Amino acid sequence: MLVLDGKIAAAAVKATLLEQTQALKAAGKRMPHLAAILVGNNGASETYVASKVKNCEETGFGSSLYRMDADVEEAVLLAKIAELNQDPNCDGILVQLPLPKHIKESKVIEAIDPAKDVDGFHPVNVGRLVQGLNTFIPATPYGIILMLEHFNIETKGKNAVVIGRSNIVGRPMSILLSSNIAQGNCTVTICHSHTKNLKDICLGADIIVAALGVPNFLTGDMIKPGAVIIDVGITRVEDATAKKGFRIKGDVHYEEACAKASAITPVPGGVGLMTIAGLLKNTMKAYQGL
Ligand code: NAD
Repeated sequence: MLVLDGKIAAAAVKATLLEQTQALKAAGKRMPHLAAILVGNNGASETYVASKVKNCEETGFGSSLYRMDADVEEAVLLAKIAELNQDPNCDGILVQLPLPKHIKESKVIEAIDPAKDVDGFHPVNVGRLVQGLNTFIPATPYGIILMLEHFNIETKGKNAVVIGRSNIVGRPMSILLSSNIAQGNCTVTICHSHTKNLKDICLGADIIVAALGVPNFLTGDMIKPGAVIIDVGITRVEDATAKKGFRIKGDVHYEEACAKASAITPVPGGVGLMTIAGLLKNTMKAYQGL
C-alpha cells in the first residue's frame, strides 16, 4: 500500500516554485505577492493563514497578512479588497473562510478581482472551471490533482466517488475528476448528506475523496480492495492526552482503510500540505497572468 505523502509531493511543487522565484530575483524582477486577510481569531484559521504565509516565505514569494477584528464592518473588509484589487504589487488575494456571520461570504468573494482570486472561489473562475477553461482551481482540489499527478495515480476510466458537495472542496473536485484532463476522465458520483446507500456507492469506487468533516466516517467495510483513498477531512477532536488538547482527525478510518486501499493520504501530512502547494501555484499563475 502506497502512502500518498503530502510532504513529498508538496516539497516537489515548492522546489519548482522556488526555482522560478530565484530566476525572477536573478533577473531583478518583482516577486509574486500574496495578500491574506484574516477576520477574527478562530484557532484553525490562524493556523492555516500562518502556514500559508510561512510557505510563501519558503518559496521566495512576498506576502502580507491583514488582520481585522471579528466585529469589523463588512464595508471595511470590502474597502480593503478594493484597495488590494488596485495594488499592482499584489498578485493574489485570499480571505480566510469562514467569516463572521454578519459578513456575507458571497459578497466578499465576488468583490475580489477574478484575476487575483487565487482561492478560485469567484463565480467567474468557477464558471471557467466548469467549462474547462484556464482558471484558478480552488486550492484543495488543485492540491489533490497535484498529488495524483506526483504519485502517477491513473484516473482515466475509473469510478470516483466524492463525498461532500461544498464549493471549496467536493463540488470542484467532482468537476475536475470528470474533466478531460490528465488526472480526470473519471466517472464521478458526488454524494452528500441526503445520499442513500452511500456504502454501496463507495464499494463501487476505484477512487474515493472523503470531504465531509466527520472523523473516521469512511470505514474499511465501505472500501473496495485496491481503491485509492483521498482524505480531505480536518477536524479538531478534543484529547486531553494531546499537547494542544486536541488531535487532528480525517474523515477516513486510517487503519481500516490501510488494510483495503492501494494508496491513501494520511491526516495530517496529506491533502492539507497539498492545499498550500495549490495556493502557491495559483499565486504564481496570477503573477504571470492567467
Ligand atoms: P462543508 O461542511 O462545507 O461540506 C460538507 C459536505 O459534506 C456537505 O456537502 C454535506 O452534504 C456533506 N456531508 C455531511 N455529512 C455527510 C454524511 N453523513 N454523508 C454524506 N455527506 C455528508 O465542509 P468542507 O468545507 O467541504 O470541508 C470538509 C472537510 O474538509 C472538513 O473537515 C474541513 O475541515 C476539511 N477541509 C480540509 C482542507 C484541507 O486542506 N485538507 C481544506 C478544506 C476543508
